[in-house]
Amino acid sequence: MAARAGSAVLEGRLATRRSLHDMCRLQFQRAARAMALDPALERILDHTTNEITVHFPVQMDDGRIEVFTGYRVQHNNSLGPFKGGLRFHPSVDLDEVRALATWMTWKSAIVEIPFGGAKGGIQMDPSSYSRRELERITRRFTYALNGNIGPEYDIPAPDVNTNPQVMAWILDTYLTMMPPLERNRSLHVVTGKPLEAGGSIGRDKATGQGVVYCIERWMEDRDLSIEGKTFIVQGFGNVGSWAARLLQRLGARLVGVEDRGGAIVADVIDAESLLDHAAVHGTVAGYKAARAVTHVEFLSRRAEVFIPAALEAQITEETAPLLSVDLVAEGANGPTTPEGDRILQRNGIDVIPDILCNAGGVIVSYFEWLQNKQSQSWDLDEVDRKLRCKLLGGYERVAGARREFRVDPRTAALIVALKRLEAVYEQRGIFP
Ligand code: NAD
Repeated sequence: MAARAGSAVLEGRLATRRSLHDMCRLQFQRAARAMALDPALERILDHTTNEITVHFPVQMDDGRIEVFTGYRVQHNNSLGPFKGGLRFHPSVDLDEVRALATWMTWKSAIVEIPFGGAKGGIQMDPSSYSRRELERITRRFTYALNGNIGPEYDIPAPDVNTNPQVMAWILDTYLTMMPPLERNRSLHVVTGKPLEAGGSIGRDKATGQGVVYCIERWMEDRDLSIEGKTFIVQGFGNVGSWAARLLQRLGARLVGVEDRGGAIVADVIDAESLLDHAAVHGTVAGYKAARAVTHVEFLSRRAEVFIPAALEAQITEETAPLLSVDLVAEGANGPTTPEGDRILQRNGIDVIPDILCNAGGVIVSYFEWLQNKQSQSWDLDEVDRKLRCKLLGGYERVAGARREFRVDPRTAALIVALKRLEAVYEQRGIFP
C-alpha cells in the first residue's frame, strides 16, 4: 500500500522536477501495478544494492593535479553478476547512474542472459583531455574501484565516450593488481575489449545490429520490408552509426542525422561516407552532401523510423509532438520521458523500448564473457546468429506480455523482466 502511495507522489513530483532516476522508477512502478507485483519485491527492486562514489587525483600533462569523481552503481545481481557500461560525460552523477544501472537489470532479464544490472562513469568531458591523460584517468579510476569490480562479480563495458581502448586500459590495470596466477583467468573483468585483448568479434556493432534486428522484426510483423524505408538517427557514435550503416545495407534510406555538433538532412545520406566525415571532423555537421537544419527541423523530418542513439530524455512533452514517424526504435537508454511516451501513444507512433531494442550490446558482451571463460573465439556468423536468437526471444516475450496485459510496449518489456526476477526471488527467498 505504501509503495502505491509512493508512486502517486512520484507522478506529482515528475511534473515539476525531472530526474532520470524518478523517470526510471515511474516506468517500474507502472509495470509493477499492471502485473500486481508483490509489494515487498517492489520495495526491494526500487532500491539499488550498492552505490560506490570515488574521488581520485590524476596528474595532467602540464604537471597540475586534478581530482575526479567516479561512480559505480550496482542495482541487482539476483540473476547473475552485476553488468553495465561506463560513461565519461559531464552529466554523469549518482541519479543518472542509478537509472542506467536499474535499466541494465531489466535488460538482461528480458533477453534471459545470466547478468544483473550496474552502471558507472566519470563526471568529465573527455574531449578536454589528451589521450595520455585519459589513459591515466581510466587507470586511476580502475584502481579506485579496486575489488568493487571483478570477472564474476561486476563487469564493466563501453558506453557514451568510452570505447575498446578504454576497456583495454581497465583490463591491463585490473590484471596488474591481481596475483600472477589469477591474471589469465580474469580476462572477462571487462567486455567490449579490442579483439587482440580478448574481445569478441561483432561486439563493436552489436548494439546497432540488435536495433536493426528489432526493426526488421517489427516490419515483418506488419508485412513490410526495410527496403526503401526512410529513417533518421540522433547520435552518430557507436550505436547510431552502426544502426545507420546496417540499415543502409538492407536498402533503407538515411534522410536525417543529428549529433552534438548539429543536424543535417538530405534525400539520401550515405552513412559510410558520413562516418568518414565524422571521423575527421568529430561531428556530422559540415557534411557537404546534406543541408544543415535546426534541432526542430531534424525532429520534424518525415521518415518511417526514428532511432534515438544519443543521450536520455530527448523525446519529451515538447519534442514528441514534432515527430513524424511510424516507429521509434530506442538505441539510447532512456530517450523518452513518460510525458513523451504518452504523446507517442496518442499520435499512434509505436515504440521498441530501450531495454529490449538496445540489448544487443549486453548480449554480445555476455558472449565475450563466455568466450573468455572457455578460452574460445567464435566467428561472426555464430555471434550474429546467437545474438539474433537471444534478442528476438526477448522481442517475442515482450509482444506476448503486450497482448496479455494490454499495456504499452515499455510496460510490457518491464513486466517480462519483473516476472523473471519475481521467479528467482520466490525460489531463493530472502536471507536470513
Ligand atoms: P557514443 O559516445 O559512441 O556516441 C554518442 C553520440 O551522441 C555522438 O554522436 C554524440 O555527438 C551524440 N550526442 C551527444 N549529445 C548529443 C545531443 N545533445 N544531441 C544530439 N546528439 C548528441 O555513445 P554510444 O555508445 O553510441 O551510446 C549512445 C546511446 O546508446 C547511450 O544512451 C548509451 O547508453 C546507449 N547504449 C550504448 C550501448 C553500447 O554498446 N555502446 C549499448 C546500449 C545502449
